[in-house]
Order: sequence, then C-alpha cells, then structure tokens
Amino acid sequence: MGRRRSKRKPPPKRKNIEALDSTFNCPFCNHERSCEVKMDRVRNTGRITCRVCLEDFQTPITYLSEAIDVYGDWIDACESANQ
Ligand SMILES: [Zn+2]
Repeated sequence: MGRRRSKRKPPPKRKNIEALDSTFNCPFCNHERSCEVKMDRVRNTGRITCRVCLEDFQTPITYLSEAIDVYGDWIDACESANQ
C-alpha cells in the first residue's frame, strides 16, 4: 500500500502589490486622478506630478511609504503654504 501523497498545488501567483492605485486628484487644478506618483526606491524619494497642470512635488520616503503617503505629504505642504 503506497502512501497517499497529497497533491500540492503551486501557490497562486502573487499580484504585484506595487500596482496599487497611484493616481490622485490634483489640489491645484482639481482634475481627478491626474496626479501620478513615482516611488524611487533607490533614492528614497517619492515624486508626484500632475499631468494636467504639471505641478510636482518630491518628498523623502522610506521602504514603508506608499503612493498615498507621498500624496498626503503634498497636500500637507500645500495647506501649510496657504497659511
Ligand atoms: Zn493639476
């Protein structure tokens, strides 16, 4: 009697978690989803650019940072600039 070997399915392919939504509304021109975040993991810099009004912003990131953090920093910077 042979031992029953449970068939192991190969693990499902992981989806790229970097492919999260990384477009945001622009605080300058108010276009929706016109701002794209690029995470430069080598230089630890996050950069966000609006493709409509071409405003851009850079902020230091850590390996834990996500696109939304870069956007949040930008919004904070805009608000403090307005005060
Ligand atoms: Zn804009």
